[in-house]
Amino acid sequence: MFELPPLPYDYNALEPYIDEATMRVHHLGHHQGYTNGLNAAIKGTCYENMTIDEILETIHVNETAIRNNGGGYWNHNLYWQIMSPDGGGEPEGKLAAAIRHDFGSFEKFKEAFKQAGLSRFGSGWTWLVSRHGKLDICTTPNQDNPLMKFTDCIGTPVLGMDVWEHAYYLKHQNKRGAYIDDFFHVINWKEVARRFEETLKK
Ligand code: MN
Repeated sequence: MFELPPLPYDYNALEPYIDEATMRVHHLGHHQGYTNGLNAAIKGTCYENMTIDEILETIHVNETAIRNNGGGYWNHNLYWQIMSPDGGGEPEGKLAAAIRHDFGSFEKFKEAFKQAGLSRFGSGWTWLVSRHGKLDICTTPNQDNPLMKFTDCIGTPVLGMDVWEHAYYLKHQNKRGAYIDDFFHVINWKEVARRFEETLKK
């Protein structure tokens, strides 16, 4: 059975960028819902004793309940970790160098990531992925993610931005771009860098 992981900070910790009401319903409502849905979907199947990564790497495109709920479970686990009340600013070290190498500058990366988030029609996620250290930006619909073999988003996710309206609608209404600008104030670059450096070992 998978369990909802606790938030690594208080519900109001990301104010004023991400508001407390959004964080509460997002974690206790949406993420709990995906967790419950995943547990129900794998009960009695070959997936019951796998890790969540193994499940997502194994499922087929038409296994809709596990795809949606398992993706939602994994994606939000990452999302809480890559935000922090001490976040924002710019990355340092190897990640900063890779961003400069692959996008030209941090500002160019930021603009490309924002545009990718704005261009994802409907609900989905925007990813910064690493392929053995080579960085790329891609997006997925709904709760799909790059672990799923049938997506065209290839690589290990090191940063994931939820662009579902439930991530921002209470505070930012329909202004996804304003949410993305605020998201950059809370990105936990230390955690993103740690995940990036893990991909250099593979
Ligand atoms: Mn969400």
